[in-house]
Order: sequence, then C-alpha cells, then structure tokens
Amino acid sequence: MRTEIFDLGRLRLSSGEGRRLQLEVPVDGFEFGGQRYEVRGGEVDATLDVAHTTNGYSLRLRFAAELEGPCMRCLGVADQEVSVDAREIDQPGGEELSSPYLDEDALDVQAWARDALALALPTQIVCREDCKGLCSICGENLNTAGPEHVHEREPDPRWAALRELKLD
Ligand SMILES: [Zn+2]
Ligand SMILES: [Zn+2]
Repeated sequence: MRTEIFDLGRLRLSSGEGRRLQLEVPVDGFEFGGQRYEVRGGEVDATLDVAHTTNGYSLRLRFAAELEGPCMRCLGVADQEVSVDAREIDQPGGEELSSPYLDEDALDVQAWARDALALALPTQIVCREDCKGLCSICGENLNTAGPEHVHEREPDPRWAALRELKLD
C-alpha cells in the first residue's frame, strides 16, 4: 500500500497494544555532496511498528533505500544501499514529547522517511569502499588505470636547456 500519510487512529489500538505494518513510502531524489541521487523505484518498502502507550505513541520505521547516483570519488555508478532504523515517541501531557511527524493521529511517513534517510547517509557515497577516485593530473579513473598509471614530473626547464646544448 503506497502511503504518504498514515492514519494511526484507524488501527484502533488501545493502550499497550501494538501493530506492525508494511508500507510503500514514496521517497524523492535529493542532492548530496554536489551530486544527484534517486531512490530506486521512487519508494521504499518500510516496516512501521506502532505501539500505543498510555497516552501516546511509540513508533519505529525501518527500511533499506537503494540509491542510484554517481560515486563521489570516481563519478562511476555507485548503487549504494542505506539502511534506516528510526524511532519517534509522541506523548502529550506530563513528560511531554512530541513528534514533528505526527499531527493528531496523522503520521507523515513520507516526511519521516525522507529525514531519516538523510540522517542515515554515509559521509560519502562511493562505488566501493576502496575506490581510488580520479587522477588529479589527467582525470583518468584510477580503479581501471592500474598501478602503472604515473605521471613523469614536469621536466625542469634547466634540463631542457642542457639537452639543447650540443657538446661535440
Ligand atoms: Zn568510485
Ligand atoms: Zn593521470
């Protein structure tokens, strides 16, 4: 079931009861580190755990998002999977805790999924952990260039002048 806003009220949970739900939550693409990333299929299969506490809700949202976009080092394809496990507690009155994603019984799972994914992103999205990136001199992909890819230092102009000199 594709869900943007989920109505917790319709679960009719009484205090102490809980329910586990499977939801398809739309997640838009985003910019990160100057690159553009999309979530495969534009949505994630999420598990939502809802527990009705004495006077509120305890919520847990879990999913794995498959990101599509470039490796930040070599600009090759980096299809990285990011696991998300987020919790929210909404408990009005007394020791008040309120979730920004809950308005009455309406849970904005789309906004929650988007924010939770942003918080779970690695510092860099890469094609593989040991990606060597691009050569800083010629821009060649060092993953495929091999160890023999080296640049001669620019010859010292004084040596060039000496080579011009003919001693015979
Ligand atoms: Zn890479
Ligand atoms: Zn190079």
